[in-house]
Amino acid sequence: MERADVAIIGGGLIGCATAWRLAQAGASVALFEAGELNAGASGQNAGSLHFQIERRFLEGSESLTGEAACIVALSRLAVEDWRGIEDALGVDLHVSMRGGLMVAETAGEVALLERKAAVEAQQGLSVETLDGDAARSIAPYLSPAILAANFSRDEGHSDPRILTPALAAAAQAAGATVRSRTRVERITREQGRFTLQGEGWTLAADRTLVAAGAWSAGVSALANLHMPLYPVPLMMNATARTAPIVPHLIQHVGRRLSLKQTHSGNLLIGGGWPSRLAQAPGGGFDLSRPAELLPASLAGNLRAAVDVVPRVARLDLIRSWTGVTAVSADQLPIVGEVPRMPGMWVAAGGSAFTLGLTFARLLAESMAGKVAPELAVVSPARFEHLNGFMG
Ligand SMILES: Cc1cc2nc3c(=O)[nH]c(=O)nc-3n(C[C@H](O)[C@H](O)[C@H](O)COP(=O)(O)OP(=O)(O)OC[C@H]3O[C@@H](n4cnc5c(N)ncnc54)[C@H](O)[C@@H]3O)c2cc1C
Repeated sequence: MERADVAIIGGGLIGCATAWRLAQAGASVALFEAGELNAGASGQNAGSLHFQIERRFLEGSESLTGEAACIVALSRLAVEDWRGIEDALGVDLHVSMRGGLMVAETAGEVALLERKAAVEAQQGLSVETLDGDAARSIAPYLSPAILAANFSRDEGHSDPRILTPALAAAAQAAGATVRSRTRVERITREQGRFTLQGEGWTLAADRTLVAAGAWSAGVSALANLHMPLYPVPLMMNATARTAPIVPHLIQHVGRRLSLKQTHSGNLLIGGGWPSRLAQAPGGGFDLSRPAELLPASLAGNLRAAVDVVPRVARLDLIRSWTGVTAVSADQLPIVGEVPRMPGMWVAAGGSAFTLGLTFARLLAESMAGKVAPELAVVSPARFEHLNGFMG
């Protein structure tokens, strides 16, 4: 039987980055991907590097904003991880960190920006609050309707099509085994060690990491664990290429919008508009089929883009697509060891294009015994009660 120190389930950004970090540190690693590497959310996302507190955290109660403030500590680490990643991998990932503006169009949204910036300042994240004219002085492409913006100098974007394949290659160069088209179908645990099985193969591992994105609840169930992670179907749009107009990442504090210009000149427009998951016969969702694009989301997303950056109205839309990400029951990521099953680790949920490199580094350090206090807020321990009856 094959053996590894760590078995990783999922060949997206988190799985490949963790494989790389662990292999670099000398661990033997075997990564299994059911389909093709980077074919999940990691290859379909918007590529935003957003370090400001996300709009979705500002919609709810004060306590949710408080939890989001804890994410700021992780975001600050992510700024440094992103600044170093191209040199560390020796690959041009089209990383652009020329700043990001989160804009407001109403007086209520301006107040929300101010509340957000105060929380961020408390957590040591530097964000400037600009009035509309000051925002347009650095971003002249913004609409006159923009009343204010929070500006974070570190925000930006990178190319999701390049990052994960580069991480997988680096993991392999460091000695990890990476197998695509290899689904993990069974996980058993005896005397503290794991046995993973799929069609025609078996592997024994001291530790297992579930990094299966939207599929993580189902994969955790293979180990008889509840993990409250839910598939969330989103959509993205790309315009035709155009001359450089938007050097920044643009987000909106009150509407669903993210907008940026890629290295090739396309504008990528997203921001959390829903698509629709396919239904499985007999109940539940069928994640093997692509989510369906919704015309109302398409119209709403483009409306928000044109309202904020009027030039968008003159560009042709060339492509829209859907992708499915994972969100946990409390919206925070779930990253760490499962207390009731030592050796079983989970990393999924949240905005893991921005935070995935940081999760991977902290996971590798934690597995080596180093305490990572930044992971405390996202530990699976907060959902331990769900597994109390799982035997
Ligand atoms: C449309 C969209 C836009 C987004 N925009 C942003 C953004 O701008 N910024 C940001 O920070 N985040 C963004 N996100 C979120 C981000 O993409 C995800 O958080 C991140 O990519 C998750 O990476 P992952 O490795 O956890 O999961 P994934 O990339 O989904 O990888 C999980 C992998 O596990 C594999 N798998 C599942 N079951 C098994 C099994 N049994 N055996 C083996 N393999 C298995 C799957 O095939 C899949 O390849 C966006 C997401 C979407 C969908």
